[in-house]
Amino acid sequence: MGGGICIIGSGFSAAALLLHLDDKGFDCRHVTIIGRGELGTGQAFGCVHDDFRLNVRAELMRVWPDRPLEFTHWAKTRLTDDPDAASDAGDFYRRRDFAVYMAEQLNHRPGTQSASRIESEAVALTADDRRWQVTLDDGRTVSADQVVLATGNPSPDWPFRGPVIDAPTLVRVPWRGDWVDRVGGDERVVVIGSGLTAMDTIHVLHRRNHRGNITLVAPDGLLPPVQTDWHSADALAWPEPMRASDFLGFMRRHIGDGDWQDAEWQRRFESLRVYICEAWQRLAPLDQARLMRRVGWLWSLARFRAGPQAHGSAQTLLASGQLTIRRDMVSGIATTGADGPHHVQLAGGGPIEADFVVNCSGAGRDPLVSGLVEQGLVAAHAGFRGRPALTPDLALCQPDGMPYRTLHALGPVTAHEAGDVVGAPGTATQAHELATRLAAGTPEEF
Ligand SMILES: Cc1cc2nc3c(=O)[nH]c(=O)nc-3n(C[C@H](O)[C@H](O)[C@H](O)COP(=O)(O)OP(=O)(O)OC[C@H]3O[C@@H](n4cnc5c(N)ncnc54)[C@H](O)[C@@H]3O)c2cc1C
Repeated sequence: MGGGICIIGSGFSAAALLLHLDDKGFDCRHVTIIGRGELGTGQAFGCVHDDFRLNVRAELMRVWPDRPLEFTHWAKTRLTDDPDAASDAGDFYRRRDFAVYMAEQLNHRPGTQSASRIESEAVALTADDRRWQVTLDDGRTVSADQVVLATGNPSPDWPFRGPVIDAPTLVRVPWRGDWVDRVGGDERVVVIGSGLTAMDTIHVLHRRNHRGNITLVAPDGLLPPVQTDWHSADALAWPEPMRASDFLGFMRRHIGDGDWQDAEWQRRFESLRVYICEAWQRLAPLDQARLMRRVGWLWSLARFRAGPQAHGSAQTLLASGQLTIRRDMVSGIATTGADGPHHVQLAGGGPIEADFVVNCSGAGRDPLVSGLVEQGLVAAHAGFRGRPALTPDLALCQPDGMPYRTLHALGPVTAHEAGDVVGAPGTATQAHELATRLAAGTPEEF
C-alpha cells in the first residue's frame, strides 16, 4: 500500500495539513492519513459533551492564517443555538462545534476527499531503500516517499507509578467527556491536576448541579486565570542572542508587576507570544530544557487561560465550599472495587476517600515518537528526554544531526522545539508553511 505523503495522526494537525496541501494545488490522491475517528477531531475536538468549550474566543481559532475571522463568521451564522457561548471576553463555542466547522472545511474542498484514510494506529516507522515503511497495529504496512508525524496529544497516564484497576469510576482519559453521565449527583469527586481539563471537569459538574464534594489536588494549588477581552497585542521583537536568563528577564520586564487576571496583563503577555516561537528556537537546547524545568508550569498556567464559563463555575464552587483545593501530589489510588470507594493517596498527607476520580494531569507519552528516538532512527533533542530534535522547518534529524528531507512533524508533537504551537492558530501556521514545502515535490535527498 502507499506512495506519496503519509500523515500519521487524524486530528486538527492532519486535517489542517491536508487542507493546506489541497490549497497549494497538491493532488491529495497521493496523501494517506493514518488514524482513527473523524478527520480533524482528534483528542481536542472529538468531545461528546456540550459543556466542554473552546478555551479561546472564536477569533483566535483558525485554520487559514490569512483569513483569521473565518471561524468567527461561520460560528455567528451556524451556531445560533448556543446562547451560552457569549461572555464579556468574547464567544467561547463548544469544542465539538469546532469539529463540525473542520468537517465542513474538508467537505467544501473536493480535492481533500481523494486522500486515502486508514483507520488504524501506526506503531512503527522504518526506512527501507529511501522509502518509509509505516507498520500498523493490525500488521499491515504502508510505504511512503514522505512522512509527517501529526500525532498530537498522547492520552494521559495516571501521574504515579503503580497499578490502577480499570473501573468506570476512575477516569484516566477525560478529554472526550464520555464519562460525565457516570458521576452520581452526591458522589465525592477527586480531580487530579489544576489545568484546563480540571476546569472543564469542574464546569460540567457544576452545570449538572452536582451536590457531592469536589477535591482538586495539585502541587501548586493554583487555578488558571480567566480569559480577558484583551485587544491590540502588537508584536514585540525579542532581543538576540539570548540565554535562558535573558529570556526570562525580557518577559518579566515586559509584563511588569500587574495582576494576571487583568486584560492589560494578558495583552502584554500576548504581544510577547507573537514571536516567541522564533525566540524559543534560537535558544540552545539545554537552555530550552532549563526554562521548561524552572518555569514551564507557570508558563502553562498563564498561557492556557480558562474560558469564562469554566472559570465562573470554579469560583462559584470555591465560594460555596463545595470545591476545595489540596496542595499536594497524588501518589497512588487504592481501591476496594470498581464502584469504589477509592483511597486517593497523597505524597504529603493522609488519603482522600472518593467515589469518582478524574485524571486531569495532562498529556502522556507518545509511544511511536519516543520509540523512534529510542531506536536511534531519529536524533534525540539535547534537552528533552525522549523527544526528537527538529529543524526550524520541522524536519526530524538523522542520528548524525543531519535533517531527513522526507520526515517532518507538526502540532503539539513539535512544541518542545518549535515553541508555542500547541493551539490551533500556531499549528495552522505550521501546516501552511509545511504544505508549501511538501507541495514542491519529493526532495532528491532522503
Ligand atoms: C482536551 C484538549 C482541548 C483543547 N482545546 C483547544 C482549544 O480550545 N483551542 C485550541 O486552539 N487548542 C486546543 N487544544 C490544543 C490542541 O492540541 C490543538 O489545537 C490541536 O487540536 C492539536 O491537533 P493534533 O491533531 O496535533 O492533536 P490531537 O487532537 O491530539 O489529535 C491527534 C490524533 O492523532 C491520533 N494519533 C496519535 N498517534 C497516532 C498513531 N501513532 N497512529 C495513528 N493515529 C495517531 C490520535 O488518536 C488523535 O486522534 C486542546 C487540546 C486538548 C488535548
